Amino acid sequence: METVVAPSSGRTDEIGQCLDEVRAAVRRCQQQGAAPAARLVAVSKFKPAADILAAYEAGQRHFGENYVQELCDKAAVLPADIKWHFIGRLQSNKCKALAAIPNLWAVETVESVEKARLLDSAWRAAGRPLPLGVFLQVNTSGEANKGGVPVGEAAAAARAITDSCAGLCLRGLMTIGSADGSQQRPNPDFVALVRLRDELQRATGAELELSMGMSGDFEHALELGATSVRVGSSIFGARATTR
Ligand SMILES: *Cc1c(COP(=O)(O)O)cnc(C)c1O
Repeated sequence: METVVAPSSGRTDEIGQCLDEVRAAVRRCQQQGAAPAARLVAVSKFKPAADILAAYEAGQRHFGENYVQELCDKAAVLPADIKWHFIGRLQSNKCKALAAIPNLWAVETVESVEKARLLDSAWRAAGRPLPLGVFLQVNTSGEANKGGVPVGEAAAAARAITDSCAGLCLRGLMTIGSADGSQQRPNPDFVALVRLRDELQRATGAELELSMGMSGDFEHALELGATSVRVGSSIFGARATTR
């Protein structure tokens, strides 16, 4: 394995402090009724591997990335017990590369049954013994530029994935939501995802997770029942908007 340039002690302290603050906020929410096992996924897109290592050394294990190549490059040089979440737009021609990442933990952005099937084939072709965890991404805001299945098609899509993708394990639902919605309380995108999850659970009896909430609103998401929050800039600092 190649080695990662170690983070500077200043950067290690900075990331450790931010991570402590986010964790403290998660714990406060848990004391007030949020899911006791809610998971913090540290979103590290555009950030160097050294930053990830700094968070890793502070005990963080779940990390999220948006670009397949960036994720492959980082996974190749970072510790094998990291649990990677793919949270970017899922492209059909990238399923194979994703399936080759030994410690890929979940793909959170499965946005159609067709893509679920491609991912399923790639995963099984790679000979992976355990099913890959996936989240069905739901377009709760209905915006044309957002990925995800429309709310009205989500139940059927969830059923199709469960029934026809033996290599996948549907863990739950995920939404990004609109910028506008994230200013509102309650956030209508989160409310829509909770409602959909409740309906699906009633229909199937299978428990489903809720991946929702980012730096600006993860506490609110936890209050509404998120079991997994995706936090980037509050841990690693602001990102350049382009690479
Ligand atoms: C970048 C990103 C995040 C993290 O956003 P922050 O506001 O930096 O916390 C979460 N989820 C998805 C899908 C993202 O693309």
